[in-house]
Amino acid sequence: MNVYDAGRIADLLQRSHGMHVVSTPDSADLIIFNTCHIREKAEEKLFSELGRVKKMLERRDPVGQVVFAVGGCVGQADGAEIFRRAPFVDLVFGPQNYHELPRMLEQLADGGRRLCAIDAEAVDKFDALPETGHRGPVASVTIQEGCNRFCSYCVVPYTRGREWSRPVADVLEEVRVCLDHGAVEIQLLGQNVNAYRAMDDDKTMFDLARLIREVARMASVKRIRFVTSHPADMNDDLLQAFAEVAALCPYLHLPIQSGSDSVLQAMLRGHSVDHYRQWAQKLRRVHPDMTLASDFIVGFPGETDADFNDTLALVEEIRFDHAYSFLFSPRPNTAAASMTFQVPLETGRRRLAILQEHLNRIQLENNRRQVGRREEILVETTSRLGSGMVMGRTRGNRRVNFAADPACIGQMVAVEIIEGLPNSLRGRLV
Ligand code: SAH
Ligand code: SF4
Repeated sequence: MNVYDAGRIADLLQRSHGMHVVSTPDSADLIIFNTCHIREKAEEKLFSELGRVKKMLERRDPVGQVVFAVGGCVGQADGAEIFRRAPFVDLVFGPQNYHELPRMLEQLADGGRRLCAIDAEAVDKFDALPETGHRGPVASVTIQEGCNRFCSYCVVPYTRGREWSRPVADVLEEVRVCLDHGAVEIQLLGQNVNAYRAMDDDKTMFDLARLIREVARMASVKRIRFVTSHPADMNDDLLQAFAEVAALCPYLHLPIQSGSDSVLQAMLRGHSVDHYRQWAQKLRRVHPDMTLASDFIVGFPGETDADFNDTLALVEEIRFDHAYSFLFSPRPNTAAASMTFQVPLETGRRRLAILQEHLNRIQLENNRRQVGRREEILVETTSRLGSGMVMGRTRGNRRVNFAADPACIGQMVAVEIIEGLPNSLRGRLV
């Protein structure tokens, strides 16, 4: 979502100030740090990066008038505190305030100093943004922001704000523009995307499944994905959509966080392990090639060895195709930060390493099982593996590198999988 927001900020400043994105801070007039507050590490990274870039520019000759801005969720959470820790910062704004940037830049030019905008709801933002300037085969479109679930470890409800769904007509219009600009894959984004609920112009209520069907009717849409879903917001309509909507890719990022019911309860996740297990089974039944991805937190307050072993057992049972795993990070305002029985850091680190061993082994085994399959690949970019190679994704969201003319970027091609690696596949153009 931060990548999406950064793109929209670029669209906005292009229109208001004729600015364009440059590839190094050296040649920039304005440097925006678009930040994440989900774990402490991400927050600390902001301050070290700010210092690094500032130093780098000081060495520049001659030193220009560079504006420093901090946006995103650290901006929202820390606000004016950022000016204290990094006094050279000129602007701070939250994830729901970036549409105010043109005005803030004007104020700065008029002599204003240390301006901060961190108080709006998502509702105003999209109306103030210009048409998306997105180019390329894969386009993300934010359809939902914020979250009302208040999982006990999570800052999102405090930084992105309350749950809000973008009106159907706005979403469809942005999808249309992306398609006109050459997109063939549309990724619908939301913090809790399967909680999407909004009206269309006729006052008909749309949930995510209905929105997907509407997007799928647009002529040039070849692929649709959505991230990230919550297990407690799954429903049978969405399941049916996987069976019936040809463009909807068989890929679901459905975080479980822990394989222990008592930990899930303390996390206030609102579902049990068995609820998750049943959805995993239903999804695989409705689409045999379903790629299932998840997130895990280890070292949550009170997590015992037995709880952790339950997580390992669940991982072995579900055999996730992909997963992100994190050490619990206490976050401001959240209930979990002040819970008793915090897990010692060393124990948490050890558990994380063990969990990742299991996840990585299973991912590699699943990737190796792809060998011999013929897959439809949407070619996205040239490959980091070298010239003559391109990278694309299977419908199940697996990355595949293979030799091909870069002219095929943006096209669908048939590829035979020849090797399964830890994080990607190797293929051969058919
Ligand atoms: N809305 C999504 C995910 C939002 S944050 C959901 O509910 O699943 C992305 C991931 O970051 C979470 O799934 C969780 O695994 C991780 N995360 C969030 N808060 C965290 C914290 N305090 N410490 C460690 N990991 C955290
Ligand atoms: Fe955070 Fe996701 Fe829980 Fe919302 S549902 S509070 S975004 S982890």
